[in-house]
Amino acid sequence: MKIITLEEHYTDKRIMDWNNQFAKKQEPASPEQAEAMKFMMAHAFPGDELLDFDKRLAFMDENKIDMQVLSLTSPVSDLVPAQEAVEICRLANDITKQHMDEHPDRFAGFATLPMADPKAAAGELERCVKELGFCGVLLAGRYKGRFYNEEEFFPIFEKAAELDVPVYFHPAGIPMEVQEAYYMSDAYSFIVGAELASAGFGWHVEVGIQIVRLILSGIFDRLPNLKFISGHWGETIPAFLERMDSILTREITGLKKQISEYYKEHVYLTPSGILSNDQLEYLAKLMGADHILYAVDYPYVKPDHIYEFLAGSHLTEEQKELIAHGNAERLLHLV
Ligand code: CA
Repeated sequence: MKIITLEEHYTDKRIMDWNNQFAKKQEPASPEQAEAMKFMMAHAFPGDELLDFDKRLAFMDENKIDMQVLSLTSPVSDLVPAQEAVEICRLANDITKQHMDEHPDRFAGFATLPMADPKAAAGELERCVKELGFCGVLLAGRYKGRFYNEEEFFPIFEKAAELDVPVYFHPAGIPMEVQEAYYMSDAYSFIVGAELASAGFGWHVEVGIQIVRLILSGIFDRLPNLKFISGHWGETIPAFLERMDSILTREITGLKKQISEYYKEHVYLTPSGILSNDQLEYLAKLMGADHILYAVDYPYVKPDHIYEFLAGSHLTEEQKELIAHGNAERLLHLV
């Protein structure tokens, strides 16, 4: 069984240095917060594995991963001015392309786009797909607190639909006000709150909402060929589809279809390294095995049973092949 994984991150010193010039130094407000920030930084940057492609290839070989779709680990910061964001993204995409060229049978690429300038972003996506041979785009979080259903971002989705490449939605940091109001508490430690607000839950809910907002904006009526990929088994949304259909009816949304119909037709899910059999079986049933793809989230998540998880699941051989590689090959035009 061939394995293609889709949410596999890397970085490059040139991009880190450029981005860091614009980084805002966040001073901790208390020793507890300083301790938590230290812990989370250590957790967020897994040694040199984001940079080291020999280690990456060894990991892929050990785990029988034939191909990774590479993406830059963190998006270009919102603090970078638009013109420089355009230049950094161009460099990042050129670096991704170099990795693809060095190992054409092992790496494919998702584009990184300058969200500060959506029209330029659409142009860069076109360059990435048509000239560099990329197979889609990965967007992280929001841009300056704005969700991507706002009209200014439409050119990016229009371009993705035109090029017939999917948009992968990835989590990123959430606003401090949301963190404070929803996740922090005196009843548990700062670090518990901070982890709950981020990779433990908060980031994921935000990505889930991002996709629902795009559906509600009518984007799939305007762009019937547009396809999304949502990691972490759909970022909490699949369990709520029936509820949303019953509350957010077509009568009040004014859309052509129910939310679940758009979701099941246009959204594809990956595990992002959450290798849960319950989720796999439930979502293969709910969405259809043709809407599930594989993702490890290397190097943040490194399960030791990537191949065995799928191979040993209760799905049919045909379903396993689709999830392991067939859907990726079809959706990302990899063959
Ligand atoms: Ca990730």
